[in-house]
Amino acid sequence: MVEAVADIGLIGLAVMGQNLILNMDDHGYTVCAYNRTTSKVDDFLANEAKGTKIVGAHSVEELCSKLIRPRKVMLLVKAGAAVDAFIDQLLPFLEEGDIIIDGGNSHFPDSIRRAKDLEAKGILFVGSGVSGGEEGARYGPSIMPGGNPKAWPHIKGIFQDITAKAPDGAPCCEWVGESGAGHYVKMVHNGIEYGDMQLICEVYQIMKEGLGMSHDEMAAIFEEWNNGELDSFLIEITRDILKYKDTDGSPLVEKILDTAGQKGTGKWTGIDSLDRGIPVTLIGEAVYARCLSSLKGERVRASKILTGPTYKFEGDKAKFIAELGKALYASKIVSYAQGFMLMRQAGADYNWNLNFAGIALMWRGGCIIRSAFLGKIKDAYTNNPELENLLFDPFFQQATAEAQTSWRTVIAQAVQMGIPTPALSTALNFYDGLRHEILPANLLQAQRDYFGAHTYELLDAPGKHVHTNWTGKG
Ligand code: NAP
Repeated sequence: MVEAVADIGLIGLAVMGQNLILNMDDHGYTVCAYNRTTSKVDDFLANEAKGTKIVGAHSVEELCSKLIRPRKVMLLVKAGAAVDAFIDQLLPFLEEGDIIIDGGNSHFPDSIRRAKDLEAKGILFVGSGVSGGEEGARYGPSIMPGGNPKAWPHIKGIFQDITAKAPDGAPCCEWVGESGAGHYVKMVHNGIEYGDMQLICEVYQIMKEGLGMSHDEMAAIFEEWNNGELDSFLIEITRDILKYKDTDGSPLVEKILDTAGQKGTGKWTGIDSLDRGIPVTLIGEAVYARCLSSLKGERVRASKILTGPTYKFEGDKAKFIAELGKALYASKIVSYAQGFMLMRQAGADYNWNLNFAGIALMWRGGCIIRSAFLGKIKDAYTNNPELENLLFDPFFQQATAEAQTSWRTVIAQAVQMGIPTPALSTALNFYDGLRHEILPANLLQAQRDYFGAHTYELLDAPGKHVHTNWTGKG
């Protein structure tokens, strides 16, 4: 009989799996590694895992036999069919109370389904977002676990040990909620990541094309911003990228083809926001901006025939750069406000008791969107867990109020110069839309009633549906 020696089993020896195993090993856990292509188990044990306590398995059965009970098996394989295939393979070798954790980028409806199916079989399923890429997995990712809450006490220790720590030492991993909540929150995290990246890219284009700044000048501004309210991983890496010179001494970034790829999590967030009726416009624009970027041929042809303005920026450059920083900050606030609106609605729809301060804390370190600013979001939800909208928090209300004049100047200038700012602009449009007590949807309702007899409600008689014969014709 094989001796059960391992605290946890991990399936999937690609980038994420290997690094998480090494991270767990660093923290004193014995991990049993398995991979579909079993030669990778031997390679891993002989190389990266040499000299560690890590053990290997050449079958799912062997893996399960080496796990201390309740067995904990974490999957870090390609999202989709591979996860279901491994769950099916594992089931004959697991028993009631054992735990399967899917740490990949699974779509949350799959996690809802898996949690339900496995609960019926007595297996505790956890769908857990893991963010931070290779480096995060190795030295401290942000981990967002959700699913069957009975699993949490058994995995809490490992997860909170291997996760990143916020500046105050708090682990960037907390229980998110039931069923698919972990993967839902990870999806929104990735959507916000799309938004943050797009905002920075728009600022870069304004600096480069509109202000004619050199790469070193731009890098210096990003450096300065990274020491202030915009302090974040993405601002920091943008500084480094802008500074980076190719062997010929020119900035490498300018040699990169300007078409952006995507794996789909931003798109999922956008689609989900439409399904739920929550205006997560900034992430939507960020996804569309990537789509537009990929129409390179059409853009090249358009650039030859569609005209733009001749307007050139002639103002105070230093003043404008400071305004640009304010516009970026305010837009970022709106993006997070939209993301939290979406999570709030999903929480209500699925009856997940989402802890928004905890979510902000989980994103505070380890992941791609980590930033000082998330500490302020954590404070906002700690002060008021029922906060209706992040923009209603006194800190964020004041921050947007202080930034709004700069924000408007930046967008007006960009429009004059013909530089696209889909994310910066939609953020301001959302802000203006939200703060309008009256929007023109009264006219829209009248139009709908005119052509489709859809009826409308009157301001002074809500709930009562009225129809008007707008043409007076029978
Ligand atoms: P990956 O390239 O997404 O997947 C490779 C792993 O999946 C290999 O172990 C591979 O086994 C296995 N696999 C693929 N198709 C399979 C199938 N049909 N049946 C069984 N096994 C199959 O690996 P990764 O980049 O390390 O990512 C793992 C998960 O974490 C993914 O869900 C990914 O989206 C998510 N994630 C990745 C990152 C990142 O920065 N890479 C960051 C966060 C989250 P073989 O070796 O046998 O092919």
